[in-house]
Parts: sequence; structure tokens; C-alpha cells
Amino acid sequence: MRACAISLTAIFLSACAGQAPVSDSAASAATPAAMVPPPPAAGVATDATRAANAALAARLPLDEQSDVEDAGRGRIGFIDAPAILNADGGVVWSIPQFDFLKGEAPDTVNPSLWRQSRLAAEHGLFEVAPGIWQVRGYDLSVMSVIEGKTGWIIVDPLTSVETASASLKLVNDTLGERPVTGLLYTHSHADHFGGARGVITEEDAAARKVPILAPVGFLEHAVSENLIAGNQMSRRSTFMFGNTIARGPAAHVGSGLGPGLPQGTISLIAPTEEISGRGTQRVVDGVTIEFIDAAGTEAPAEFMFYLPERRALCTAEVVTATFHNLLTPRGAKVRDALGWTRAIDHVLETYGDRSDVVFASHHWPTWGQENVESLLTQQRDIYRYVHDQTLRNANAGATMFEAAEAVEEPAFESEADAFNTRGYYGTLNHNAKAVYQYYFGWWGGVPAGYNALPHAVTAVRYVDAMGGADATLALGAEAFEAGDFRWAAEVFNHVVFADPDNEAARNWLAATYEQLGFQAESGAWRSYYLVGASELRNGIPSLGNPQLGNPEFLRAVSSIDLMDSLAARFNPAKMTGEPFAVNLVFPDRDETVTLHVGKSVLVPRRGSSAEAAVTLTLHRSVFDLVLLGRTTLPEQLQSGAASVSGNPAMLAALFGTLDRPDFWFPVVTP
Ligand SMILES: [Zn+2]
Repeated sequence: MRACAISLTAIFLSACAGQAPVSDSAASAATPAAMVPPPPAAGVATDATRAANAALAARLPLDEQSDVEDAGRGRIGFIDAPAILNADGGVVWSIPQFDFLKGEAPDTVNPSLWRQSRLAAEHGLFEVAPGIWQVRGYDLSVMSVIEGKTGWIIVDPLTSVETASASLKLVNDTLGERPVTGLLYTHSHADHFGGARGVITEEDAAARKVPILAPVGFLEHAVSENLIAGNQMSRRSTFMFGNTIARGPAAHVGSGLGPGLPQGTISLIAPTEEISGRGTQRVVDGVTIEFIDAAGTEAPAEFMFYLPERRALCTAEVVTATFHNLLTPRGAKVRDALGWTRAIDHVLETYGDRSDVVFASHHWPTWGQENVESLLTQQRDIYRYVHDQTLRNANAGATMFEAAEAVEEPAFESEADAFNTRGYYGTLNHNAKAVYQYYFGWWGGVPAGYNALPHAVTAVRYVDAMGGADATLALGAEAFEAGDFRWAAEVFNHVVFADPDNEAARNWLAATYEQLGFQAESGAWRSYYLVGASELRNGIPSLGNPQLGNPEFLRAVSSIDLMDSLAARFNPAKMTGEPFAVNLVFPDRDETVTLHVGKSVLVPRRGSSAEAAVTLTLHRSVFDLVLLGRTTLPEQLQSGAASVSGNPAMLAALFGTLDRPDFWFPVVTP
């Protein structure tokens, strides 16, 4: 699962709630290199940053009011408590955490991101249209509620059980209590289904035959997308969503897509039906819903839908109030910009002239048929623009980086209502690179980059070639003073990668990342830079390894996919003996898989092997708990829940070949 950027990642992040605020003491504690003064104090915008932010503020119509009116329109209630708590009383979502977002942008925040963050932090229960409401501002995502004949149809129950439950309570307290009579997941990212158990239980849904509708491929993608790559993706998510740094004008101000990630419990209730096609209709509790498949756009499984009786269009996460990511910094498979722009054009063409309102699962709605068409047109065009211009430049010979530099801000008929095309989450720069990667891969096409040395090697040689660490730092400091922060970051990064213990270099690089963060219009970029600065100054947070996944998710993973995730942990250096095979029999699923353990690869296959050295029989649900470290194989063997035939030593040999990656690996140092 990935998110709009999260995904299973959100699960992992729940282990790193509320941490270490950015320290300003590290810079002064540094031992500056001879000749090179220490960097300026943390948390302060330099003249160059102030000037850059002021120039953007002067260029954009930041006081334009239509988004402000839309973000606050129809509010009929709000959560009147200081926080949403979990069962143990821990804070899942602090209600006032973004209250500092008031007035003009401070010089430490890009003024356009400040505007977006203020809008995204508006919270409460809002009426969208007769019979349609949204709960916004208590999660990264938005929960929509449609009035059915007898109850509520919930669209996208947020990221966590706690925020979803609090949101449904707000709905029931404000509008009158009704049962949940339908549940829709618009796509396979965790911020759109993780709170399912907060609005209904599996037992209740089954007993009342409540339809739970999702796009085709939902369950597979909801669990599998990040399973194999989960550790790296989740670690990067700590950078992208800023969960390990404070909220505040010199820290995290919002993700651009929504205010932030809750620190709650992720759940999953399987859909009762996965829907495909464009124009497919279902009637849920008396409400006609027409689905528009959008697989492969923002998520591998996604639909939008239209409510003909209400003349309302829900664009899920395909159309929101930001330029989205074609390739998220967290990592995920690259998305198809052309498919994305075509999907938007389809809804524009099919529903644009019969939609009085468009709402999505992030941000605020847009009202008025002309405004709906304008929004859809702009969103269609921004994805087409980055796609076509990247290819135009690439076909003229541009490398990936050249193509990204060449894509300038597109012109729109009216700047005032084109804020939705700005890069608050994805950016033109990264999306051009994503388009390039989609068609041409990671390589820029220049032979020198064909088989480049790793940076830890070249960094030492660069620093040497530039006259040593002090001379290189002086060069970087000069670039910093000139406000040339992208170059300064590259120069300082060579010194840090050549010698990660060089405190002066770490502090200069941190100061540089901070200025880049202060200027970033994307919430994701800002968080990435500021977390980088924090880890350079304060080190990696010592929070212990979060649990990668939970039984509920693993249950939805097919056994062969689960074995592939084990194969991705296979370390050939730990395979010292001769090749062997292990049969795993899972009676609760009526499945058997064989793991062929070779010298260099672990190959899973369905079925059993007569050659296997050992056969382990146990329920898959128990095997999952073993993988999650909640029980051990010896315990299960002793209790009789697991049994072995053949040579049990080969089970130890199998598990002995698997790495268990450390979550908090270094990112900003080698
Ligand atoms: Zn989302």
C-alpha cells in the first residue's frame, strides 16, 4: 500500500509518535574547521531565503479568497476536545497542533505552502450538498458521509481506527445517530481504509450484509504494494511526513496533501465486492452510485464515482487541490502520467456538465458547475503538461536532470484559481523525473553515469580533489552565503559522506537543508529537508524498531507473496551449507509452499517437494505471528500448534539465512 503517500507505512509510523523537537543547540556545540566559521543558528531564515519567499509571495495572488471560502464552507460542527486518544489514553491526533498556522507566513515557511497548510488544517464536519457531508482536518485524509435511505454510507474511513471513530461520532452527534449501511474504499492506500474498524465491525457488517465496495485489485494492492519494500519505504516516510520533528513555523507545517499523519491503529476489513469498469452502477441503501475505474493513476487500484441523484462527483485522490506525486519520495512504483490525465479527461467529458460539486478524499470541495469544469481541466492539464514537456525535452536529447530543470511553471488562464496545480505534495521537478523514469529508467543516458562509483567512494575523492575538508567546507560556506543552497548541499554532502564524523560539515549541511526546507513549496520536500537537518544535528532517533505490519494485513497476503517478501530478506553470505528445500504446510488455508534455498537465491513455489529436507505444518495465521515476532516456532512446536517431520535443523538453517533489517538506518550519512 502506498499513499497518497502512505500505505502500510502509516502502520509503521505509529511506532514513532511524538518525538524529538528540532534542537538549536547542535550548531553551537560544533567544532568548526579552521578557516570556516560555524553556520548560522538553527531555525532562522537567511536573507536569501527571506528574499526567495518574499518574491514568491509577490508573484502569487495569495490573498485570493475562493479556496478560503470553500475550505470553511458549510461547517456545522467540530470535535470539541483537546485530542483524539487511543484506548490507552495516548494521543493519536492533537486537535490544536496546527493552531500556529495563523496570519501571514513567517519567513521560515514558503508562503504558498503556508496558505495551503492553513486551508488543509481547517477542521470540522462540513455539509457538501444536501445529503453529503465531510469530516476534514483530523487526519491526513478526508472522510465523506452520504445519507442513505436508512443510514450512513461512509466513503474512505481515514487512516486510523481512532480518528475514524471520532469522526463518525461527530457525524452522529451533529446529524443524529444512524447505522453505517455502506462503506466505500476509493483506493488501496492505507489513509483510505485504515480506520474501517472505527466505523463498523466485521461481525456487524456481515450480520447486516453491509456492502463494502472497493476498486478491482484493492485487496491485493492494499497489502502487497509495500510488503517487499516496506522497511525502506517506511523509513523514508519518517522523512516525508515529518513525524519525528515538531510542528511549528521552523518545523513541520503540513504535508501539502493534508495536515499530517495520525498516530493510531490501522485496520482492514475486506471489501464485499471489487468493482471494475467505467459507468458501473450499484445502489447502496437507496443511493445510486456510478463508478469510474481509475486503476494505475494515483493508486494501482482506484475508482472515482458519480452520484446522479445529487449531481455530485467524487474524484477520490485522482483530482485534489494539489499537484500530486507521480513517484513519491517515500518510494512506490512510478505512476502513469498519461493514464492519469486521460482518467481526468474522461470524468471532465462525461460528468463535467452535470456536476454541481466535486469532492475528493483530501482537501475541500469545489462548488458550481463552471468551477468544477475549471478544476478538472486544470488538473487534467497539469499531468499532461509534465508528461508531454518531459518527453518533448527528452526526445530532444535531455537527460533526466536536464528534463526536470527545463520544465517551467505552466501558464494558466487565471493564476488565481490555479493553486490546485501547484506542487504542494508532488512537484514539477520530481514529476518530470518520474515521467523520465517511467519511459527511460533511472539512467540519464551519459556513459559516465552508466556504472558510476558509489557516493561514499567518490565523496572522499571529490573532497581530496577540492583541497581537503576545510577547503571544501569553505567553498560550501561561500555558496551558502550567496544563497546557492542546492550547490552548497552538494558540496557539504561530499564532506559528510567522506567523513560522517566531521561535525562542522554536518552542521553546515543541516543548515543548508533547513534553508532548502524553508523555501520548499511542497510539504513533503520541506519535511524531508527538515528531518534531514534534524538527523544531522541530533542523530537518528532512538525509538526501537517499529513492527512492520500486523496480523490483520498479513492475513490478506497470499502465501506465495509472503514468501517472496522472505526471499527479499535472503542473505547469501549466511547460506553456508548445501542447497536444500523446506515444505511449509498451512492447513487453515489448504496451502503448501516449498522454499528452495540455494547458494544465492531463495525460490518459493506452490505445492510440496518430495526432496524437501523438512516439512513444517502450522496455520498460516500462526506462521504470520512468528514472522511478526509475537510468538516463536519452538513455543508453537511445544504447544503442538506446529509440527515437524524430517530434519528440524534445516528450519533453523532456513531462518538463519534471513536478514532482519534495522528500521533506523542512516539516510543523511553513509
Ligand atoms: Zn490519500
